[in-house]
Amino acid sequence: MSDPSFDCVSCGACCFSRNPRYLQLLPWDASRSLPPESLFTESGCTYVKFEGGHCVHLDLSNGKAACQAYEDRPEACRAFRAGSFECVKARRANGIMGEKVRRPVNTPA
Ligand code: SF4
Repeated sequence: MSDPSFDCVSCGACCFSRNPRYLQLLPWDASRSLPPESLFTESGCTYVKFEGGHCVHLDLSNGKAACQAYEDRPEACRAFRAGSFECVKARRANGIMGEKVRRPVNTPA
């Protein structure tokens, strides 16, 4: 990470989504050790569960947004670069710490 304003440990924007099928496992993830209870399969595809608008591996305690599965995080997470176009897009869409995802729909920004 070159820009310190993109602090992945206090942001978490890319780990939030209202889409329950946001994070799909890919063939490269076959050797990773993600807890089976954190996954579900639908129509032949495996996904990481999202609860409360965020990935179940995201720890939001103590004002942090830390991945508790960092060493075994899926390929899609590994490909996500801090400060990239996708990162900035997620921050705009989801807000820091998922503030926009966690806010009830129809609440003014
Ligand atoms: S596995 Fe980790 S990096 Fe990937 S979405 Fe979940 S909390 Fe974020």
